[in-house]
Amino acid sequence: MNKYVASVLEELTKKQPWEKEFLQAADEVLSSLSLVLDSDPVYQKQKILERMVVPERTILFQVPWADDKGEIHVNNGYRVEFNSAIGPYKGGLRFHPSVNLGILKFLGFEQVFKNSLTTLPMGGGKGGSDFDPKGKSDNEVRNFCNSFMRELYRHIGPNTDVPAGDIGVGGREIGFLFGQYKRIRNSYDSVLTGKGLEWGGSLIRPEATGYGNVYFAQEMLATKGDSVEGKTVLVSGSGNVAQYTVEKLIQLGAKPISMSDSNGTIIDPDGIDAEKLAFVMDLKNNKRGRISEYAKKYSGAKYHEGKRPWGLAKAEMALPSATQNEINEDEAKALIENGCICVSEGANMPSSPDAIRVYQNAKILYGPGKAANAGGVATSGLEMSQNAIRLSWTREEVDEKLHNIMKNIHKNALDAAAEYGTPGNYVNGANIAGFKKVAAAMIAQGF
Ligand code: NDP
Repeated sequence: MNKYVASVLEELTKKQPWEKEFLQAADEVLSSLSLVLDSDPVYQKQKILERMVVPERTILFQVPWADDKGEIHVNNGYRVEFNSAIGPYKGGLRFHPSVNLGILKFLGFEQVFKNSLTTLPMGGGKGGSDFDPKGKSDNEVRNFCNSFMRELYRHIGPNTDVPAGDIGVGGREIGFLFGQYKRIRNSYDSVLTGKGLEWGGSLIRPEATGYGNVYFAQEMLATKGDSVEGKTVLVSGSGNVAQYTVEKLIQLGAKPISMSDSNGTIIDPDGIDAEKLAFVMDLKNNKRGRISEYAKKYSGAKYHEGKRPWGLAKAEMALPSATQNEINEDEAKALIENGCICVSEGANMPSSPDAIRVYQNAKILYGPGKAANAGGVATSGLEMSQNAIRLSWTREEVDEKLHNIMKNIHKNALDAAAEYGTPGNYVNGANIAGFKKVAAAMIAQGF
């Protein structure tokens, strides 16, 4: 490892040893930049890494709200504005009880490189709250969102910071947040993406992360003269990303056989088809039910309480689409033993560092989240463009742009990996390609 990288990582670990996910993300990105840093002393001279690992601004605030019985609750609210070298801060909001500053810093840091890879002018940020929307009424979720935006509104704006959804923040939450922003500001700004179609949203935005991940996997397989058609696929999660991953897999002739939530996994050896997926979408998006219901409805499927999909069945591909560190070393080994030749990440950092080493030693295709799931934020960028010119592109136009963006991200990552002597290593390629553009802008803009 390059000495400069080692010293920055050491300092970071000393300062915030408790921010485990952030340190994991920083280690993964910085370790793969050694070759670039060796090639030009300007990065060290300009203290680029030291400046990149500290958010430009971190906002912490209290979010008081009342439940349906009138009882008052207080949650933590956060927005981490990481880097604005190439555009306004851009990245999702996560509402989940596990949310803390370390997790949002990992997500915001990854977002900087991901957004750079899309080739669109977007900086990186992330935010959210330890609020859990699960089991709350619409009224309670609205109370919470109103209170959250009562503070957040002063920090965001179409040219400053444009949040979107993430875990626990879907169309309902974006609607409440946007409504409150508009009331306070008296301005119809393009300040959030993931909006409803009738009020400024983009076609294909809900589908974009899942579709984009399948497009990315398709590009990786094409380098081996292969395709997703006919492949058996393990998918985790049953939220936004998982649903549209499964939809695109079905459209391209693959056979997705699993979905999951935080309680367990269903395996359906017959494959999840369009009708079964419609059942899952209604269950999750409208009824807000649990994935175990699937096995009650479809007798061929089996529900595995408390289990993740990996290792539960043979499959040629794995598309993790739930959360961070959801594949550990043993699970990665089980995937390989069961014939997996391609892992493409819809979720952010779903594979532990040990799991990644297993994929790399086995020489299977591995697409890291910051490249493979960049279709979501790329289409958010397209939503911002449509808002700015006050036009709406058709479904086909947006899908074609998304598809081209995913092809370009794949090519840029592949080319950068080859240029720096690690052909086929998408981790190195994505980090290097994302880094060089942001670093060049930081140097040009001074400090
Ligand atoms: P959703 O909230 O729509 O769905 C999340 C899914 O993951 C749910 O099925 C949820 O189960 C499950 N899940 C969440 N936390 C855990 C956990 N700790 N253990 C097991 N399962 C869990 O979120 P998204 O689909 O939007 O996000 C999924 C992943 O994709 C995240 O890593 C996110 O950062 C990433 N991502 C999302 C993008 C987007 O456009 N939405 C863009 C790029 C990345 P349950 O219902 O039980 O909580």
